[in-house]
Amino acid sequence: MIYLDHNATTRPLPKVISAMNACMQDCWGNPSSKHPLGQEARRELAAARAEVGLLLRAQPVEIIFTSGATESNHHVLHGALHRPEMPRRIILSAIEHAGYMKSALRLRQEGVTVDLLPVDSAGRVRLDALREMLQQDAALISVMAANNETGVLQPVREIAAMARERGIPMHVDATQMLGKLPLSFAEWGADLMSVSAHKLHGPKGIGALVVRKGLTWSSLLSGQQERARRGGTENLAGIVGFAAAARHARETLETEAARQTALREALEAGLIEQVPGVTIYGAEAERLPNTVCLTVAGMSSDKLLDRLERRGIFASSGAACSSGGSDPSHVLLAMGVAGNVALGAIRLSLGRDTQLADISEVVATLRAVAEANDAAGSNPEAPAPAH
Ligand code: PMP
Repeated sequence: MIYLDHNATTRPLPKVISAMNACMQDCWGNPSSKHPLGQEARRELAAARAEVGLLLRAQPVEIIFTSGATESNHHVLHGALHRPEMPRRIILSAIEHAGYMKSALRLRQEGVTVDLLPVDSAGRVRLDALREMLQQDAALISVMAANNETGVLQPVREIAAMARERGIPMHVDATQMLGKLPLSFAEWGADLMSVSAHKLHGPKGIGALVVRKGLTWSSLLSGQQERARRGGTENLAGIVGFAAAARHARETLETEAARQTALREALEAGLIEQVPGVTIYGAEAERLPNTVCLTVAGMSSDKLLDRLERRGIFASSGAACSSGGSDPSHVLLAMGVAGNVALGAIRLSLGRDTQLADISEVVATLRAVAEANDAAGSNPEAPAPAH
């Protein structure tokens, strides 16, 4: 099996699994209990928070553990609309994660103005458009650090500075960037940040919302945990697993980012040279080391993925979360790609286990698949070519 779906999720590291096992066996107290078992759990929680803070470059008090980035993003929306002094208007990039985008757009039915910040054809948000949008006040600006479908990096620092100047809270969804490239909440100057552990070889169902020290953000879940900012007994085993994954990421990040960048470059060079009709999206922009979003002319994503899967190569179309749907990716549409073309997009996302031999096999397989498709002539299932 060649697994090229690391943006969907990653395999938990053995050290993550053993840290979680040990926690569940030996440290199962409730961190809110006053007795020694509870206090031991409380110490584990504090140690894990400090470790995660090192990777996020955030202070431990700024970190609120959640069930993942989806929850963190929803805390952000909730808080933005519960500040009576702020207008009922939010600005989101047009390429945010599908689930988050859906909840934000639903707010229009409640009278909230939701403005979508456009991107250019390479998939980068347009700062000129943001400047224009900032003529009017807003309760939130939300832009992801790296897109999950194309891997394109966004100018987070510049946006945070523009937001700061206007006194508008800025949120960054750094879910896809964490563990793949160095990042710094402190240096970015953002007010809020969402992350998730399962994208960096940690467990699923655990993530964090980072809230800048001094910023009060209304809580979505009432309760005394997490300094009354997120109620619910802490998922301590998940948090300990997140910390183990964060530590591993921190210790290996730079070498792994360089290694995966070289693999991605080899993959793209091979695709361009050998696969007829291939187009790579976002190639002109700075991207994550591991992500390639592509179409092969005349082939639907379902057919491409099926042919790859038959040869033991696992990938997904656009966002794994929207796989199976028949709608084209909102990310590619925002980049100006025609709907019928976007329906053919697949995402190959490399990871820590990916080797050079895998890259050669993927290129050879895609070449064979594209050539067989060409030889078979026009296919009634396939999207029409681009116009
Ligand atoms: N934001 C982005 C950019 C993502 O890629 C994902 C995961 N696909 C999420 C949010 C949701 O994360 P989680 O699975 O932790 O809810």
